[in-house]
Amino acid sequence: MTPKNANESTAGNCETEIAAAPAPLPAGMANRNCGVPKVACRLCLIDSQLAQSHIIPEFIYSRMYDKNHHYLELFDVNAGKIRLGQKGFRERLLCPRCESNLNRYERHSRRLFVDDLPQRESPKSRRICVENLDYRLFKLFLLSVLWRASISSLPMFEHVKLGPHEEKIRVILQSENPGAPHNYPCLVFPLLFNGKHFKDYMPAPTSAKKEGHRCYRLVFGGFVFMIFVSSHRLPSKFEKFLLTEKKPLFLYLTELSEFPFLRDLWNRAKDSTRDVVTSFGD
Ligand SMILES: [Zn+2]
Repeated sequence: MTPKNANESTAGNCETEIAAAPAPLPAGMANRNCGVPKVACRLCLIDSQLAQSHIIPEFIYSRMYDKNHHYLELFDVNAGKIRLGQKGFRERLLCPRCESNLNRYERHSRRLFVDDLPQRESPKSRRICVENLDYRLFKLFLLSVLWRASISSLPMFEHVKLGPHEEKIRVILQSENPGAPHNYPCLVFPLLFNGKHFKDYMPAPTSAKKEGHRCYRLVFGGFVFMIFVSSHRLPSKFEKFLLTEKKPLFLYLTELSEFPFLRDLWNRAKDSTRDVVTSFGD
């Protein structure tokens, strides 16, 4: 991926940005919450007038929208109900300063979602090479999305319940240190549908047990993210998909039909909400 904006693309710049804490509040943010009662910020725990926080970053939605400003949102994974989504999910969870801090991870990770996918290494290869993605910042971004989904009271995120790991991940986010790759291991897959990058699909996050490990599956912005919430070592078959400090990062293009959970969700949705699925993009 080619950096288009030096402020948001290179690990070096972001490291500098992280070191320069506390981050300034975005212009106008201090006045936006007038009249909102003070309650404890879910991240720093300090009483504050909380901002409306996106659970999934806003730029994900702007990239997903079709020409009618819609995307496919599978909001009920059990019944397989799809609707055309139009705007992101927001909730008052964080103080403006914590919101601004998490935005730094979003700004760093944004290019992965906004730019076209890099070319395959060869026509028959599934592997693509992603440059300029910093392990620490990108992993903190993924953990922050998972954590926000867990503390959210919105029905879309009802299947994300981190239990005691909610507090452990809060501490990780506050310390700005995600630890080693096997600490809450994250797997990243670019999602294809019939060979094309499939960005316009967002099922509600779900979880499953994989070889004794609790794994949360988040699908947004054209990627499937699997985050293991377990203190046991990741099964070896997942190793090559693991997000690590190694650069560049190699990702493996994967068709929707290769994910059994996504294939089941898609088929269920096609049966129950066929009119929405077939009219999408018209
Ligand atoms: Zn805070």
